[in-house]
Amino acid sequence: MQKNATGGNSGKMNNKNSQSPAASLAPAENLVSVTHLASGHAKISPMQAAMEEARAAEARGEVPIGAVITHKNRIIARAGNRTREINDPTAHAEILAIRIACEALENERLGDCDLYVTLEPCAMCAAAISFARIRRLYYASSDPKGGGVEYGPRFYSQPTCHHAPEVYSGIGEAEATDMLKRFFQEKRK
Ligand SMILES: [Zn+2]
Repeated sequence: MQKNATGGNSGKMNNKNSQSPAASLAPAENLVSVTHLASGHAKISPMQAAMEEARAAEARGEVPIGAVITHKNRIIARAGNRTREINDPTAHAEILAIRIACEALENERLGDCDLYVTLEPCAMCAAAISFARIRRLYYASSDPKGGGVEYGPRFYSQPTCHHAPEVYSGIGEAEATDMLKRFFQEKRK
């Protein structure tokens, strides 16, 4: 297994990870099929499952953010924020989902996995997604205040980023944005 040599990679974004057996599926094809994934009992899209996790997080008194990881069109990990519950500032939905998926696949890399999250990942999670070699990142709402993908450090555009996932945003945006807005309005009351 090849580790990143420091200073390698000549500052070019490396989307095509040679280790990733990923792309037997064309992106467009996959975009269609992922909306018909089965998760356990009911047929539910990965983003809908992420929304469910966000709602469950809210019910636990956490910031309502949820994440799901798929592998070969199957949901293998789902999680919501748990920072308060376990007193861990790194317990964001994405980090927890990555841990679950790595354990499930017994691998520190998730090269043919896709991650769905209800809000643009922060810089920490954007980095973790890169380190995990996740193939595609889908998020619902952008986060001008705390995001690290299209806002803030724009992690995947930096020359020090050695793996950037394909990024798709805006799926289920209205629902995710509403949930967060309601949450912070309630908090201010
Ligand atoms: Zn995060």
